[in-house]
Amino acid sequence: MKDCRRCGSAIDDAAQFCPDCGTPQTDEARAQFADLAQEELDESGLPGGGDRGKLLAQLTGDTDRLWDRAGYAVGFVTIVLALSVLTDPAGVPLLLAGLVILPPTRHLLGRPFGRPFIREFMVALYAVFAVLGGALFVLL
Ligand SMILES: [Zn+2]
Repeated sequence: MKDCRRCGSAIDDAAQFCPDCGTPQTDEARAQFADLAQEELDESGLPGGGDRGKLLAQLTGDTDRLWDRAGYAVGFVTIVLALSVLTDPAGVPLLLAGLVILPPTRHLLGRPFGRPFIREFMVALYAVFAVLGGALFVLL
């Protein structure tokens, strides 16, 4: 079993698509799906350009990849920052901020609920801890 890269549902290792949300799980399925989505879009008569690119990215899971990459980047930078001020009280909330923004945390925390937490919630948590850390750093 593996987890769907989008909704986190447990799915068969060999599955090409998630049975819950339909997101392609392999590069092959993704490419196939992108072609189909492109055809659908061509037939839909939607105007080309930005919105279409965004829609296609969403359909093929590229948006999820971008989010994940950004999550790792921000998380690691914040954790390094937190470790460099760990003797300071600000280090603890900063470390927590770095940890909550990492994509695996979102999936782990959501496990008891059957779904990963939504990204916006993790970003909000990150913001709370980061602001707390920043405030402690400035005030103490
Ligand atoms: Zn899914």
